[in-house]
Amino acid sequence: MTKTSIKHIAEDYNMSEQEIVNKINDFGIEQTDEKYLEGEDLELFIEMLNQEIKEERGNVIEVDNKITVQDLAEKMEKSASEIIMKLMKMGTMATINQEISFDIASLVSNEYGFSLIKNESSELEELEIESLMDIEEDDEKDLVPRPPVVTVMGHVDHGKTSLLDAIRDTDVISGEAGGITQHIGASEVRIKDHKIVLLDTPGHEAFTSMRARGAQVTDIAILVVAADDGIMPQTVEAINHAKAAGVPIIVAINKIDKPAANPDKVKQELADQGLLVEDWGGDVISVEVSAKQRLNIENLLEMVLLVAEVEELKANPNKRAVGTVIEAELDKGRGPVATVLVQGGTLRVGDPIVAGVASGKVRAMINFKGKRVKQAGPSTAVEILGLSEVPSGGDQFVEVPNDKTARLIADKRKAIQREESLKASSKISLDALFEQMSEGQVKDLNIVIKADVQGSVQAVKQSLEKLSTDEVQVQVIHGGVGAITESDVMLASASNAIIIGFNVRPVSGSEQVAEKESVDVRTYTVIYKAIEDVKAAMSGLLDPEYVDEDTGKVEVREIYKISGIGTVAGCYVLSGKILRNSKVRIVRDGIIIHVGELAALKRFKDDVKEVAHGYECGLSFVNYNDVKEGDIVEAYIVKEVERTLD
Ligand code: GDP
Repeated sequence: MTKTSIKHIAEDYNMSEQEIVNKINDFGIEQTDEKYLEGEDLELFIEMLNQEIKEERGNVIEVDNKITVQDLAEKMEKSASEIIMKLMKMGTMATINQEISFDIASLVSNEYGFSLIKNESSELEELEIESLMDIEEDDEKDLVPRPPVVTVMGHVDHGKTSLLDAIRDTDVISGEAGGITQHIGASEVRIKDHKIVLLDTPGHEAFTSMRARGAQVTDIAILVVAADDGIMPQTVEAINHAKAAGVPIIVAINKIDKPAANPDKVKQELADQGLLVEDWGGDVISVEVSAKQRLNIENLLEMVLLVAEVEELKANPNKRAVGTVIEAELDKGRGPVATVLVQGGTLRVGDPIVAGVASGKVRAMINFKGKRVKQAGPSTAVEILGLSEVPSGGDQFVEVPNDKTARLIADKRKAIQREESLKASSKISLDALFEQMSEGQVKDLNIVIKADVQGSVQAVKQSLEKLSTDEVQVQVIHGGVGAITESDVMLASASNAIIIGFNVRPVSGSEQVAEKESVDVRTYTVIYKAIEDVKAAMSGLLDPEYVDEDTGKVEVREIYKISGIGTVAGCYVLSGKILRNSKVRIVRDGIIIHVGELAALKRFKDDVKEVAHGYECGLSFVNYNDVKEGDIVEAYIVKEVERTLD
């Protein structure tokens, strides 16, 4: 709680202590301590005093501990040079952008009939802000059971949305008033008098992007697998995403009403992914359901409760509220609207909160049924109104003592965010691996592998995992066939992993995401080189003496077969430029199908040295004629990088 001495206030306001005490009495504030004012009393007093001064003296300027000459001049509507002159006369030399202390600024402004007062926020100790952002550890005795929060994941069309609908319908049957539910990003169902919270956004993208931002909201993942289709690529992704997050999985084998349904095949395939179901002797719970015919849904929910019980999910409802923003948007009528999941404490209408870089007082709370509520305890999702701006999904929110503090913390977070985006990220990278290992930052080297064929995934995985040492455990957290997607990058980001692509490339867009998330993406065309690199990185010997530097991307638009020469590709330079001595990668659907050199680079009939973005050109390749329309040719040069010895 903020506490300031009367003496201090008197100094700030250029008044005597007695004058301050008189004012306190005038304002009807009860002084509990004759030397200090604190908390709400302090706030109220300062507010009233400022108001009075404003009325009496007219010109009050609120400043921080320091102010630049320019800002001060602007606030008094004077020219900066005039202020500089004034300062000089007072024996202070200052330039326009220089910061001057509160005292000096105060002297200058008095000359112009202004009075300067200290912005209270600058008084709030850094430490205090820090401690408000840290959430206190809970005492075991304060914890009470809380409902589980569930996410539904699975391959597209396997029935995630249908299952969510079916689950919500189950609740209607159980007698809860239902029907129209307002979409707030989460919903609740009640089964056997227990509550289950469902996050409405199905799929692992939402799940992983939250986790990448440091938020863990899901307690249990329901993995939907269509019984007539079996394990598909996104099923595998979902499994790995849940595993990486350490979230227990319950398998819902869906569409068992279909004649082609083959639950046993699904179980076999699950076993191949390391998920051994109970009736096969494992410990993974699976339930055969039909979302369409509403079969076995209750049974599935009971299993959720069972797992929740084993997990012993608990929270302390009697502390300041803390949780995570599930989603948020700017509503035309209502301003910033955020759906938050309360994870600890109890959030009440009127509570001042910080959510990411947004702050404000909770003006209203709406539950998943669209009803206004006054409070929300642990494992409750509510929509809240009253924030200053729109936070991001995955942002943490915390309740703070007052809205001024909320604003300060939000501002501070903004500053931290800026700093962090400027600062090189602390994400793992092969180049810095040894250093990170030596500093004890790294105990696991997590890797996501993408390759052109399954065989390569396995081969790379096995060879890499064998590199594990006592210091570093090499772990492949996901392996798949195909181009490197945004989902791969987000998984890597969330799990602090690097991505190794073997004969594949990032799809467009995922490169930018990788850069933004500082995920180290390495692509190789020979397996041993990938292994070598990782091995070298682990021993601190990674030698980036030669790197491929991409110079441009070219799209193949037409193919000409010319006798005696071979295939010539009529191309368009999409970005950057291509050089006659460029090396080239030919990429088809994200897979590298050829790496080699150019045999010729032409503009119309002429041989040229380079062709830039926006121009057409003709390409032919050394010993390669299988280029096709739509292929992307990536031009690069091999650059020697000077070794930095440190
Ligand atoms: P999502 O992409 O995973 O969200 O899948 P949807 O819920 O949209 O379902 C995809 C398709 O499968 C839709 O046409 C559903 O009607 C159908 N479907 C979902 N569940 C079942 C089921 O249990 N049985 C049958 N026969 N069809 C289902």
